[in-house]
Amino acid sequence: MVIVDVHRCAYCGGCVSVCPVAALTLEETRLVVDETCINCEDCITACPVGALSPGLRPQPSPQTPLRRRYDLVVVGAGPGGSLATQTAAQAGLSVLLVEKRQEIGSPVRCAEGVGYDRITAFLEPDARWISAEITKAEITAIAGDKHQVLGADGGRGYILERRVFDRVLAERAAQAGAEVRVKTAATGLIMENCRVRGIKIRHGDYFNGDGEIEVEAQVIIAADGVESQVGRWAGLDTLLPLGDTMVCAQYLLAGINIDPACTSYWISYEIAPGGYAWVFPKGEGKANVGLGVQADLWQAAGPHSAGSEGQETVLGYLTRFIESRSFLAQGYPVTLVVGNVPVALSPERIMTDGLMLVGDAARQVDALTGGGIINAMSAGQLAARVAVEAIEVGDTSANFLSRYEAAWEQREGRKLKRNYRLREKFPPELRAAERFIQAFALAVQ
Ligand code: FAD
Repeated sequence: MVIVDVHRCAYCGGCVSVCPVAALTLEETRLVVDETCINCEDCITACPVGALSPGLRPQPSPQTPLRRRYDLVVVGAGPGGSLATQTAAQAGLSVLLVEKRQEIGSPVRCAEGVGYDRITAFLEPDARWISAEITKAEITAIAGDKHQVLGADGGRGYILERRVFDRVLAERAAQAGAEVRVKTAATGLIMENCRVRGIKIRHGDYFNGDGEIEVEAQVIIAADGVESQVGRWAGLDTLLPLGDTMVCAQYLLAGINIDPACTSYWISYEIAPGGYAWVFPKGEGKANVGLGVQADLWQAAGPHSAGSEGQETVLGYLTRFIESRSFLAQGYPVTLVVGNVPVALSPERIMTDGLMLVGDAARQVDALTGGGIINAMSAGQLAARVAVEAIEVGDTSANFLSRYEAAWEQREGRKLKRNYRLREKFPPELRAAERFIQAFALAVQ
């Protein structure tokens, strides 16, 4: 029976189309070979990436092998990781950026909203990654029979096309001189006397053959998103409490008639317990329509294991939200996005000897809005600057790297803490209160 190398497979489905006995099935993102396989090897010929074999190891291609030593290794090519990589490469460090997915920026886990002033502090606006320009916001608070609508003009911003945006950031990092590798996952840290000395990476990257290799680095920046494990490997406490997790579902709805320059928010315990619903225009009669529910409240709402009748899911909340609004119900979903947002305080420590956490990995998200794109970029830039200094002076200890923590605190950390405490002050069922809505309106601008 033909063997699938899951780390190499890019699940393109080419092999399925040439199999004469239908022994191969592409299960969304996983290729399965069943026992009806007759070993004709047609699928091996049709595979563009050498992921299938009759049992022999595929031959490595003769392209540039990974080096075994870099100044800096960055894990995760989201906005945080790419900014860190670009900043450090521009300063002359040798940098490796590893991304476990095969396509940077995809699948999207985001509603894609950013403020104009904040994004333009990092790069010039570019039509390639902008879906819509926003000039105003509208917030509807609902508590029982009481509806309150607050308009906020002047909150200029963009709705991004993150699939393109994230890739452009990674391209800029590569242009600055960094090595960028996709389908390459960090799998563990190399520790020596309790300090981080490097990283283990598994690469099914077509360049070096497969397998796990060890790469030494003076500093590691972990920008590995909400699912971050790198911090834990280094002994940092990044466990996310359910009460600080927003469970989100979103459709890209097409065929709807909305103000193309206005973002809309609904704050209501009934619509989205502990969180809110949003409609973010994406141009051409499309919008990201989603909601986030605080994880512990959603659990409390009832049993929720997928599939069974009568059981609640966050997607169920979203469906009800859409169906009860005629201007949304007339649309049709063209993409489903799901994901969690860490609306937590940052862990007590976001760095240790030789390692720093940035972005969602460091829980650097606004607890009121769930916004984290710009925070991740900002943290990535700060962490990289500190890495450059640390390497220059030959001191990558936690003590030196704590400069990053201090700089972060000064730039964004205090504001994020204030917004976290504000959210805490208002229990979920009281977040439609006027004072909370006003604070929320300020935060989304
Ligand atoms: P990510 O963008 O998550 O990137 C992390 C990367 O690390 C990923 O590409 C992942 O594949 C990679 N990775 C993970 N583990 C490994 C590993 N072991 N090896 C190699 N690679 C690895 N923010 C806003 O500002 N505005 C919004 O409108 C908004 N809406 C949102 C809506 C939803 C539904 C969700 C879920 C989030 C939303 N956010 C929003 C939050 C925003 O998406 C994140 O804060 C932002 O993407 C964080 O960037 P990052 O670089 O830290 O992490």
